[in-house]
Amino acid sequence: MSRLRFTFDNQFVQQLPADGISENYPRQVQGACYSWAKPKQMQAPAVVSYSTEAAALIDLSEADCQSSDFTAIFSGNKPAEGMQPYASCYGGHQFGNWAGQLGDGRAINLGEVINQQGERWAIQLKGAGPTPYSRTADGLAVLRSSIREFLCSEAMYHLGVPTTRALSLMTTGEQVVRDVMYNGNPAPEPGAVVCRLAPSFSRFGHAQYYAQQDGDLLKQFVDYTISTDFPHLIRDGMPLGKDTYLNWFEEISTSTCDMIVHWMRVGFVHGVMNTDNMSILGLTIDYGPYGWLESYDPNWTPNTTDAAHHRYAFGQQAQIAHWNLYQLANAIYPLIEDVPPLEKLLNDYADRYAEQWLLMMCKKLGFSTVNKESDSELIKQLLAFFSLHETDMTIFYRRLANLASSENGLDIEQAIEQLNPAFYPDSLPDEIKKTLSDWLTRYWQRRQKDPLTAEQRVALMNQVNPKYVLRNYLAQLAIDKSEQGDHSGVNELLEVLRRPYDEQPEKEHLNQKRPDWAKHKVGCSMLSCSS
Ligand code: AMP
Ligand code: MG
Repeated sequence: MSRLRFTFDNQFVQQLPADGISENYPRQVQGACYSWAKPKQMQAPAVVSYSTEAAALIDLSEADCQSSDFTAIFSGNKPAEGMQPYASCYGGHQFGNWAGQLGDGRAINLGEVINQQGERWAIQLKGAGPTPYSRTADGLAVLRSSIREFLCSEAMYHLGVPTTRALSLMTTGEQVVRDVMYNGNPAPEPGAVVCRLAPSFSRFGHAQYYAQQDGDLLKQFVDYTISTDFPHLIRDGMPLGKDTYLNWFEEISTSTCDMIVHWMRVGFVHGVMNTDNMSILGLTIDYGPYGWLESYDPNWTPNTTDAAHHRYAFGQQAQIAHWNLYQLANAIYPLIEDVPPLEKLLNDYADRYAEQWLLMMCKKLGFSTVNKESDSELIKQLLAFFSLHETDMTIFYRRLANLASSENGLDIEQAIEQLNPAFYPDSLPDEIKKTLSDWLTRYWQRRQKDPLTAEQRVALMNQVNPKYVLRNYLAQLAIDKSEQGDHSGVNELLEVLRRPYDEQPEKEHLNQKRPDWAKHKVGCSMLSCSS
């Protein structure tokens, strides 16, 4: 028995119906929310990295994370007392089309821990072997995609973006064969398992799939979700009814909207916003072929599967989230049976997004107030400027704050010099320089009218404009090293990304724009779903 002890309270399996078949083979599951599924025994699990902040969520100390029990438990090799491993059943719209049953094909849920603060944290392994939902795939994950999930989850958390968390990253000691670019070149790669944590891993696709089943599976799932994740919506002794479900949908819509505003703030492109990858809690979930904007381009997506349509490109994300909310609204309609209030909430999403996006953009520019018309125009002009010459969004906004700290009026030449490191290449042709200098002049005038002091403005800007993000090429460099057995790159990135808004002068090399070699390199600007 394990030395590490947890208090489990596995509500998902206690409240919802289980699949009657207990063998683990691929199948269509009807009338159940999950199937029992044990993690595969891995040959030689070894810890690559762990997050101390995520560990604290389930009351694990640094010493606990370095114990052999930790490796055994969070690789899936040894159950802790109270764990009840299962894979959940869900469906989803993939690239706009209903895909039927999907489910946890390579995620195995271990249970829900109640920590010392009384918080619920569901524990899930990704890459822990096949489940009844694995279809034709192996249920495993490779090191490169696991590093990407592990680092990005924690980077997003420290950036203040709602996200599932990553506790640990381990290699399994086994090889997994993948055809990285789906071009007929399968090759063995190191296998890995990530342990992730979230208050709940429920997705839009859960409700969507249960809505298509006979009986009251949908109601059971929604009532369970409300009782565990949205208990504040329940009025004492009152049965759940139409108003509760509408309030619930409103919260999902709001948190989804706010999550996308954050993505737009930090330059994150999810890459696969299928409805099965949308969290009911408005958390960023399922880090696959995601990417970080290098040159600002609303049409950019790192996902090669989406290269033809750009459905999930950076600038599409708000609309796609809205479309996904429509699908969720359709799914839960039988619980509400009233179109106008649902439609109103869907319209409210668009209004809220427009308002929150503008507020966020104003903060990025260092404005404490919002002048709807004129600020929208100023922002529009800036984004139009970005389309004239490749501009690194992260470096640009960060440097705009430094420029803002000079109080002797604006020296345009000096200002442009200050911004130069954000441009690809880093000197602007005269005509474009003129456009920027005109914009900077207007920006300066607007800024002067804002009530903030110079110091307050820099502070505001540096709280919303990160200095360090998980640049695509940095993740790939760390992966290249790790695949050779040297995990120092992963741990260096994890460390620096814990304080993304701090200057960290000794880490300046991790704040550089994309080098030329990375522009068209697989893993840097092009990613497939192969993982
Ligand atoms: P994704 O595109 O990664 O969100 O996955 C879509 C569906 O495919 C989900 O049901 C996943 O669990 C499943 N899936 C993805 N990769 C694998 C794999 N290697 N083995 C089994 N199922 C997988
Ligand atoms: Mg997924």
